[in-house]
Amino acid sequence: MLPVVALVGRPNVGKSTLFNRLTRSRDALVADFPGLTRDRKYGQAKYEGLQFIVVDTGGISGDENGIDAEMAQQSLLAIEEADVVLFLLDARAGLTVADEAIARHLRMQNKPVHLVANKVDGIDGDSEVAEFYRLALGDVHQIAAAHGRGIGLLLDTLVQPL
Ligand code: GDP
Ligand code: MG
Repeated sequence: MLPVVALVGRPNVGKSTLFNRLTRSRDALVADFPGLTRDRKYGQAKYEGLQFIVVDTGGISGDENGIDAEMAQQSLLAIEEADVVLFLLDARAGLTVADEAIARHLRMQNKPVHLVANKVDGIDGDSEVAEFYRLALGDVHQIAAAHGRGIGLLLDTLVQPL
């Protein structure tokens, strides 16, 4: 079984854009990956000779009431079956209550999580992402998924323990 990397975060942060870039596809390869169910979008990625499975999720509801209760079931399942979680944030939108709720959930899991601030193109990334450190989930990777910026550095960190 290949290592599984799940992309989670609220809607519109750029999960599918990153998925497509990592898997170099527009559509998921919904191939037969034993042990994985089909209601999430799976693709295969390869970096530095290492193959892994990337899972795209529809996103966790950004509703401000009872976000924990409203977390999309499939995102929770994606986290459960992942070896590593990439938690995407929108560097332009800044920190939201939905992000904080997702972070609370992730802090309770015994899973490696990488914070990924997307959309740093055309903004001062360092100052925009500073507040994401408040999530207490470690270092914040800066990327622009739509432009391929920061992806190599992110993958270097990601594949190390895989
Ligand atoms: P998802 O809902 O998390 O899957 O987000 P999408 O991948 O569908 O992207 C949401 C929106 O953000 C789209 O309009 C994308 O074009 C835009 N977007 C994604 N990545 C970037 C980026 O690196 N920079 C900018 N400026 N916009 C981006
Ligand atoms: Mg999407």
